[in-house]
Amino acid sequence: MIDLFPRKPAVTTEQLQQVKDWLYEVLQINRHTIISMSQLQCTDPNCPPLQTAIAIMSIPHRVIRIHKAISDITYADVVQAIAIKPKD
Ligand SMILES: [Zn+2]
Repeated sequence: MIDLFPRKPAVTTEQLQQVKDWLYEVLQINRHTIISMSQLQCTDPNCPPLQTAIAIMSIPHRVIRIHKAISDITYADVVQAIAIKPKD
């Protein structure tokens, strides 16, 4: 099969679920909270071509970005991305 989008690596449901599981764990939010993730092109020359935008529909909503493709995100990336956001 020809890959029409070589810059957008395929993401399996398991990979998506794994990242969501880490988010629920690190943020300590209810598992019914909707989390949506999308891979976007990153134009920053110091970055890999893909970044992941994660919208967490908790109250208040929050959006975090990880400058990696979903398939490359690790638990440490999730912890770090959440820690960067200042708390109020
Ligand atoms: Zn970036």
